[in-house]
Amino acid sequence: MPKQSPEKRRNNFQEVALGYTDEQAKEEASRCLQCKKPKCMAGCPVELDIPSFIKAIRDGDLRDAVRIIKSKNSLPGISGRVCPQELQCEQKCVLTKKGAPIAIGRLERFVADWDAKQLLAGRGLAPQSEDATKDFPTGKKVAVVGSGPAGLTCASDLAKRGYQVTVFEALHEAGGVLVYGIPEFRLPKNIVKLEVEYIKGLGVEFDLDSVVGRLVQIDELFKKGYDAIFLGIGAGAPRFLNAPGENLNGVYSANEYLTRVNLMKAYKFPEYDTPIRQGRKVAVVGGGNVAMDAARSAIRLGADEVHVIYRRSESEMPARLEEVENAKEEGVIFDFLTNPTRFVADDRGRVKAVEVVVMELGEPDESGRCRPVVKEGSEHLMEMETVVIAVGTIPNPLIPTNTPGLETTKWGTVVANENGRTSMEGVWAGGDITSGGATVISAMGAGRMASADIDAWLREKGPWIC
Ligand code: FAD
Ligand code: SF4
Repeated sequence: MPKQSPEKRRNNFQEVALGYTDEQAKEEASRCLQCKKPKCMAGCPVELDIPSFIKAIRDGDLRDAVRIIKSKNSLPGISGRVCPQELQCEQKCVLTKKGAPIAIGRLERFVADWDAKQLLAGRGLAPQSEDATKDFPTGKKVAVVGSGPAGLTCASDLAKRGYQVTVFEALHEAGGVLVYGIPEFRLPKNIVKLEVEYIKGLGVEFDLDSVVGRLVQIDELFKKGYDAIFLGIGAGAPRFLNAPGENLNGVYSANEYLTRVNLMKAYKFPEYDTPIRQGRKVAVVGGGNVAMDAARSAIRLGADEVHVIYRRSESEMPARLEEVENAKEEGVIFDFLTNPTRFVADDRGRVKAVEVVVMELGEPDESGRCRPVVKEGSEHLMEMETVVIAVGTIPNPLIPTNTPGLETTKWGTVVANENGRTSMEGVWAGGDITSGGATVISAMGAGRMASADIDAWLREKGPWIC
């Protein structure tokens, strides 16, 4: 896939990957074997009919490709860009064994981008319904709390089945991590906006700036006439290292850093009025996608030197390989097997250095990865003016603590069965709030499973308006 050159993209927030041309997409689609029993589909949590949409691209029928994709997935421009396809559909593709699986994600993005152009030109397809209900309108109302990929998928699937759906979102924009976490250079916000507009076109209403658990409680939503509730509230509270000096000025959580950059558009200061203060030398602690996003944002905000400090080895980094490669090309320096122990202040209480120790890999731990152990006497200082802590997130306890009867785990995640049913009758949950920090596509899959179960449950209850 063509990309902006590293020299150019270091200085802008525009999208790095430029997308396939028509010829490239057709050529890639022509490699698909159109398997009778397509293994790729087993790797897709939203059950996309992958061979059929690829065939439609090969045959030059992009409207049909859009129809096929959108009947199962209302967010293809998003999933085509940020899903870890290499661990999902593409890993299962039969051609993987021969070395080069079909680039399913890139083809999905190609179709979504073509569709976006049609929509902007007023030639878009009408919203697609997979199983347009014969009972429409059902007369039933569902409240979806949270507008991340789990909530958006649940809401759009239920709207397609004829329910009246309202999404309650705490922030002033819909999209969850897609708008406040993942940067513009990986996922342009106009793509998220367009896909949210599409969901509005299905009849879903959005109640923004609406914090459930504070402004309205779960039981009050039932009293207001909602027949079922889906919680897609993510796991957006930051986790810290609990190391001395972590509260110094200049030490950010990745949540704050990325929210300022993405949602509040700090990179466009003073056009947008939320600045971000960043020094010449920046350290990002962590090894996941969040750490890559923070490090690559720091480069674009003008840092001279950006280090990713990760306590394990490169092969154990959870970030997508593609994003690690992009970060390296852009000049991010990786300090593997290195762990911060404290943060050192200057005389004004700002961070001026990170004390780190060198780690060695020991026996595998319960996750199967080798446990890092400290190398005696290896502590040393790394001079840094800004530090971003990106070591994971935990669920926000607001709704669980204000909702008696909603069972949670010791990690604060909501307990739900494989269909998303929680311990409270009429309440479902899915996405990061049940799994802990995971992926966009797993959140979408959870929203989809829950929508089917909510539908079955409400149908059983009846009565229906026909
Ligand atoms: P979220 O996206 O977190 O959405 C939850 C929404 O609920 C938020 O909008 C929040 O404001 C709202 N909410 C919370 N509490 C309330 C309340 N009380 N009332 C009303 N609204 C509420 N995954 C990938 O697959 N690929 C990637 O490349 C990738 N990169 C990532 C980069 C970053 C920086 C981050 C943070 C995550 C990344 N992930 C990635 C993970 C992925 O984004 C998440 O797994 C996914 O967004 C979870 O979706 P969700 O719908 O469960 O929750
Ligand atoms: Fe095409 Fe690979 Fe799916 Fe077979 S498994 S249909 S080759 S994408």
